[in-house]
Amino acid sequence: MTDDSAVRVVLLLPDVLGTYSDRGNATVLVQRLRMGGMPAEVMEVSAQETAPTSGDVYVLGGGEDAAQAYAVQWLRGQPALLTTMRTTQVLAVCAGMQVLGDWMQDSDGRRTTGAGVLDLTTSAGPRRAVGEVLAECTDRDVQTLTGFENHRGRTYLGPGVPPLGRVLSGTGNGDGADGVLTANVVGTYLHGPVLARNPTLADFLLRRATGQALSALEVPDQEAARRLHLGGARRRRLRSVLRRS
Ligand code: GLN
Repeated sequence: MTDDSAVRVVLLLPDVLGTYSDRGNATVLVQRLRMGGMPAEVMEVSAQETAPTSGDVYVLGGGEDAAQAYAVQWLRGQPALLTTMRTTQVLAVCAGMQVLGDWMQDSDGRRTTGAGVLDLTTSAGPRRAVGEVLAECTDRDVQTLTGFENHRGRTYLGPGVPPLGRVLSGTGNGDGADGVLTANVVGTYLHGPVLARNPTLADFLLRRATGQALSALEVPDQEAARRLHLGGARRRRLRSVLRRS
């Protein structure tokens, strides 16, 4: 049964773009809302279904090249969904971000037309970027982002399109930036799931989706996990600087 007052988090294609556990982002959003006293529900939309246009937040995850080629055809076959995704809040991770762009080119040079929701393109880089990432978010309310990446694509933002953050360690888009931040889309290369690792990013997204600020939460285990990831990434960064000197 659906509750009309509930905030609707729509998880798109968990059966196709589900390789990196990014479905956890939808779980985090819904649990965070409930902990803040707001009714919320997840609607999962698989490849056999048509997506609703009544969502408050749409969530897309990462996947392999073949899976994302399928995902982009699926998206392009749902014009009403694409219209909604041009104005409603979206979280798009890795392949999920790439498919929303104008086009993407895989390592064999095959170019696929994207869903055209974002002014960005993706080409295959020289090698796979795999490992932990740290990025400074462009929004000051969001703490330093941590996550892991696993992708070959390098993403180029159109002129004037702002990234989500500046990479402190790792690869991200490939040019020192990570992701994209438009009025309604948060895109990133970070898995984790990124919202489980970065609760302030979840709150940022929900503030934009609901127009309300949720009261701060203290989750000691999550804080401890953040300190661990931040410390590990900073130590690796220091070691690589020392190796180069
Ligand atoms: N297949 C894409 C790439 O390698 C996306 C991978 C991912 O979603 N982690 O760039």
